[in-house]
Amino acid sequence: MRTVYLNGDYLPETEAKVSIFDRGFLMADGVYEVTSVLDGKLIDFAGHAARLERSLSELEMRSPISMDDLLEVHRELVRVNEIDEGMIYLQITRGAPGDRDFAYPPEDTEPTIVLFTQNKPGLANSPAAQKGMKVISIADERWGRRDIKTVQLLYPSMGKMMAKAAGCDDAWMVEDGAVTEGTSNNAYIVKGNTIITRQLSNDILHGITRAAVLRFAKEAQMKVEERPFTIAEAQEADEAFITSASTFVMPVVEIDGKALGDGTPGSVAARLREIYLDESRKAAV
Ligand code: PMP
Repeated sequence: MRTVYLNGDYLPETEAKVSIFDRGFLMADGVYEVTSVLDGKLIDFAGHAARLERSLSELEMRSPISMDDLLEVHRELVRVNEIDEGMIYLQITRGAPGDRDFAYPPEDTEPTIVLFTQNKPGLANSPAAQKGMKVISIADERWGRRDIKTVQLLYPSMGKMMAKAAGCDDAWMVEDGAVTEGTSNNAYIVKGNTIITRQLSNDILHGITRAAVLRFAKEAQMKVEERPFTIAEAQEADEAFITSASTFVMPVVEIDGKALGDGTPGSVAARLREIYLDESRKAAV
């Protein structure tokens, strides 16, 4: 049985209980992060901690823990649960004021903090990276502050189900004619030596993996264009891929039924995946 972390305590997963009045449960009033673990170490913890602080501050929510202590909690969970490859899920909510009200609860309401591990042996060696993913396009019907990593994930869940129903792996969301991002990842296309991905704004989550991958791409002399692109442009691209903390760099081989190139994963995505995994392992803490 997993050991999880709840409000300062390490507990067996079946003993960790949260109030029915918790704002996360009643209002999706909470933020989260997912940090991956390779070789028993945390990938880009500093990036995830910085984004967490920003999400909290945008929602005027206070953190119940310092980022230094948070690192120790992550490490302790990796240790006690013997995680070699996998993920750590972290969620902080505005707490449980003891009743339901739209107004934020009093300042002294203790936030709720939960962390748990997900053991995924073989995460870095995923067969999906060899095969590539098929995506469909769907309308982006999420709220306007996608830069804040909230637990309000119903539309992304619906998007995944629409993809599954179409025999595909994921959905790319489209707004005003351009791709915003995948349901749980950032989206990219490749033309020649140029990587194209939407620029940062409130329209997308500022992926921690995105920042690292774009940095590595530039270091490897690839060209990066941060701008919107359409599904039609993506279907004519040489390659496409996604990035996220749990999938790293994952090739996309089909968009709305149209195969990209010869329908197999492209060399740019493969190279970026390799560089990302190598460099991230070296910098893991
Ligand atoms: N966009 C969305 C909507 C996401 O949910 C995620 C992953 N949580 C990402 C992008 C990728 O972000 P990261 O690289 O930090 O995991």
